Parts: sequence; C-alpha cells; structure tokens
Amino acid sequence: MTDSLGLYLHIPFCKSKCPYCDFFSGKGSETDYVAYCAELKNKIYYWSKRTDRPASTVYFGGGTPSILGTERLCDLLQYVKTCFSVEPHAEITLEVNPDSGRHLDFSALKEAGFNRVSVGFQTAAERELKALGRIHSIDDARLTVQRAQDAGIDNLSMDLMMGIPFQTIDSLKSSIDFCASLGVKHISSYLLKIEKGTRFYEQRDSLHVADDDEQADLYLFAVDYLESIGYRQYEISNFAFEGFESCHNSAYWQCREYIGIGPSAHSFFEGKRFFYGRSMQDFIANILHDDGDGGSEEEYLMLALRLKSGLRFSDYRARFQKEVSPLLLRKVNKYVGSGLMERDPQHFGLTARGFLVSNTIISDLLS
Ligand code: SF4
Repeated sequence: MTDSLGLYLHIPFCKSKCPYCDFFSGKGSETDYVAYCAELKNKIYYWSKRTDRPASTVYFGGGTPSILGTERLCDLLQYVKTCFSVEPHAEITLEVNPDSGRHLDFSALKEAGFNRVSVGFQTAAERELKALGRIHSIDDARLTVQRAQDAGIDNLSMDLMMGIPFQTIDSLKSSIDFCASLGVKHISSYLLKIEKGTRFYEQRDSLHVADDDEQADLYLFAVDYLESIGYRQYEISNFAFEGFESCHNSAYWQCREYIGIGPSAHSFFEGKRFFYGRSMQDFIANILHDDGDGGSEEEYLMLALRLKSGLRFSDYRARFQKEVSPLLLRKVNKYVGSGLMERDPQHFGLTARGFLVSNTIISDLLS
C-alpha cells in the first residue's frame, strides 16, 4: 500500500493534572523527559522500518508537548523526518499549554517544520479557568498565540470547553469572542464529560456542572454563533475558517490509517486497530494490544457521521463497491423528518441537534 498515513506522537507529561482529565499524562522531571524522548525515538525508528508509506500529517499531542521545550521538540521532529518520508506540505501540529507554550521559540519551531499550533485554552473567564484547575492565565494564552503568529504560524487552533461550572451562554460567547479577536482560524469546542478515574468524578455530587438541557443550550448556541462569525462547523466539536480544518483529525474521521506512538496511543495500520496500554513500562517493552480489524462499513458510517459532511454516497461506493442499503436509508429518512439528520442526493449527515444525540442515532442506524 502506498497511501500516505498520519503519525501521532504522545507526550505524556503535564505540569499538574487537571481534575477533569482522563488522558494518560502525569508529572515528569527533566530526567524523565530525556529518557522518554530517547524511547520515543526508538519507537519512531521501529515503526519507520515497518512501512515506507509517506506521512501526510504529524501530530504532537498529549499531555503537554510544549513542556519538553523548543530544543527537544525540534530534535524529535527532525528525527521523524529522518526516519519517515514526511510529505513536503504535511500538516505538522504541536499542542501547547499556554503556561509552557509562551516560553517556546516559535521561530525555531517553524524553522524545524511545525506549521500548526493547537492551544489548550478552555475559557476566557478566570472563575471557570480556576474551576477547571487550569494553571495558566488568560494572558498566557494571548501571549502564546501572538508569539506563534509573530513567528509566521497562522494555522492556529484554540480548545474551548462547554459545560464548565459557573459557565453561562454570555461567558461562552466572551470566550469565543476572545479566540476570534486573536485571529485564530480553528476552534475546537468540547462538552465537559465527567470521566471515571478523574477528580471531578469523585466530586461529581457536589460539582455544579451543566445538566443535559443546559449542555444542549450551550452547544447549540456555540454552533450558531461560531458559524455566524465565520467558523464553519466541520465535525461535532470542530469549527474552522475555510481551508483551516485539521487534516490530521479529519483523516481519523475519514477512516484513513495512522500510527500512534506513546503510551495510550492508538493506531490503525494495515487494516488492523491496536494500541499501546496506559503504562510507560508496556510502551518501553513495545507491548501492543489488538483492537480488531479496522475500516468496516459500520465503523466507516460511525466516523463519517461525526463529520458535518456526513456520509458521501460516492465515497462509500468507491470504498465498498456497493450502495448504502435501503434499510439504512429508510432509518435516515425517519431522522430527516424529525430534524436530526439531513439528506440530499450526494450525502446524509447529522444536524447540530442530531449531533447532541449522535450515539443514540448511530446505534439505531447500525442495529
Ligand atoms: S493539561 Fe491537558 S492533558 Fe494535561 S492534565 Fe490538563 S487537560 Fe489533561
């Protein structure tokens, strides 16, 4: 197979653990960073020997990649480029936390090849930032974005969260306005989910978070408002100016293949899904967990329905050499009738209201 693939590198370190976060990440020392980068390079080399497919996207996620500092990040990217054939116009993303991000040398990062920066921001309201246990200030975020822009990186994304304790539609609007005023071209806007194993989960009975109706109001407001100021929704939680959609994440939803390197990182490679466990020891020992075959019709439908463009009949036909079943289309029509889906001769997909109940709709479509 000569198709290009995506590369994901997981950096499992954070300065402190946010109480809502269930990603595999924790505190690390300078010694840990050095040891981890060396291990990451071993695995980058290992995977590069298993394929000669070019990389069309590279994504440094976490955790907090920016915690490693400019020099180590440039060195890692350089190593990726030595081992893999990275396409000349590949999208190369760096996730940054404003706390460590503002100290990065973005000119050096750009020189090394990073051309997209994603800032973990969450909210422009101090009270909400505190409630989320975030360690950065709003000014840290402003500085991080401006420094990246000054270095000539204009493909910037900011993460926002919806359903934060104390959040209102007005404060969400102010957070969106803050991102827009900085000129970022992409916004990811996620609903807060209380995950097992997090501090928020232990405190769930005393936390004042948005209930289902309030979450729906916040979400529908965000979709409408973001669209009205130019951020086109292209996925359940992602909005961008034309041409600034994330290529790396879009490839996941288009059911394209990628290799994830790092503890907890998932891969879809040569038709198989597998992942590293949430353990540094397992990662070092290169223990991979099988997650079955990938790319089935069901999986394709599930992923396509995360996208605003939904399932395109021509893509489905090209991939599976057949038409979408009449039974599935009858079910789609039922949801079109209730305003939760839309359909035209080229595609069908979920509406904004449909996205709010996407799990229920998708399990019905697949049953
Ligand atoms: S900075 Fe991000 S990855 Fe780290 S604990 Fe907070 S939410 Fe999780």
